Amino acid sequence: MSRRLRVLVLGATGSIGSNTLDVMVRHPDRFELVGISAHSRADELFAQCQRHRPRWAVLPQPEAAQKLQQRLRDAGIDTEVLHGALSLEQLAGHPEVDAVMAAIVGAAGLAPCLAAARAGKRLMLANKEALVVGGAFFMQAVRDGGATLLPVDSEHSAIFQCLPLDRSMWPQTIDHLVLTASGGPFRRRDPETLHAVTPDEACAHPNWVMGRKISVDSATMMNKGLELIEARWLFDLPADKLQVLIHPQSIVHSMVVCRDQSVLAQLGTPDMRVPIAYSLSYPERVESGASALNLLQVGALQFEAPDLRRFPALALAWQALRGAEGSTAVLNAANEAAVAAFLAGRIRFTDIAGAAAHCLDLVQPSFDEVASVAGLMNLDARTRVAAESWMVAR
Ligand code: NAD
Ligand code: MG
Repeated sequence: MSRRLRVLVLGATGSIGSNTLDVMVRHPDRFELVGISAHSRADELFAQCQRHRPRWAVLPQPEAAQKLQQRLRDAGIDTEVLHGALSLEQLAGHPEVDAVMAAIVGAAGLAPCLAAARAGKRLMLANKEALVVGGAFFMQAVRDGGATLLPVDSEHSAIFQCLPLDRSMWPQTIDHLVLTASGGPFRRRDPETLHAVTPDEACAHPNWVMGRKISVDSATMMNKGLELIEARWLFDLPADKLQVLIHPQSIVHSMVVCRDQSVLAQLGTPDMRVPIAYSLSYPERVESGASALNLLQVGALQFEAPDLRRFPALALAWQALRGAEGSTAVLNAANEAAVAAFLAGRIRFTDIAGAAAHCLDLVQPSFDEVASVAGLMNLDARTRVAAESWMVAR
């Protein structure tokens, strides 16, 4: 039997992270969980250590890490607890890690993603913000390190599954890509009333259960905007080769329109364990835990054009995609700051796109800022300051 794939799961306590553990435990003969990380939910990380016995667990703060280490020792579990962002990078590049599930939310995931890319790992990317921020720089690190970059986002996994295994054939295969979007909870809501929606309403996604940040992104459709940018880099295509269609059933997860006008789509029930399982087992397939798709029960598949008046965030993503290098990092940082403020009850739902539009106009990325992680993080921080002053002035 070949050796098991040694997997590090960054953001293990989140929605993608816990679904990854769920897929992995179905195949103990194939996958070994060697490390997990969390941001604040130490109790959940403890429970995961108890259940899966990884070699390493990581928390941001030294005090919390020490406490967890003691709890584990008392329970007779020999997981080593590390702390801090640097530990995430070190583990992502560790020689005894084969594959990294990047399931941290936000730009905070960029540095460990780059470490995994540079170390030539199998990099399973859920953390779309890392690629939106890193752009060309991120893809260069993947090439330099000889990493295998595998999309976990359901749309990108769908496209990836439709494309030939031999990546050198992609340019001759693809005419354009169609990303599908559910339209989120406000697809039919009167745009005039959107200013009044609450965080809980915004997080109540009709088809998917996800973390709160991506749920708000789905409600504004900024999520689809970030995914357009993600597709631009994953499949090396210009903006005019990327389309978005609203498909409320979330059954067709995206499509490739080929040169010969053949249209290839991947279908399935909306369950992230399918793309997660494929990223773990690629190019083979394993049972994922997802239920079977019953098209008779679904009945009809509908498609409609997105309304950019209702979803101005989507238009901003097009703007950033066509703008100067670094514009997508500005869009992401402004959005992260604004979504956090909305979830904290500080701004209105409609102010999220307002803050992003303001920052895209105001913050000009410099050449140096897009050429290093430190530069990108500086651009990110600068944008958050600009977003904050706009939000305070509202
Ligand atoms: P989540 O909020 O449920 O989980 C986020 C995880 O990241 C948690 O484990 C948290 O502890 C950790 N984390 C948060 N901030 C951190 C920080 N600053 N440093 C280190 N760790 C931190 O989010 P999620 O829904 O699982 O999404 C994770 C990523 O996957 C996001 O980038 C999201 O866009 C992407 N994604 C999610 C889904 C989904 O269905 N949930 C689908 C496609 C893509
Ligand atoms: Mg998606």
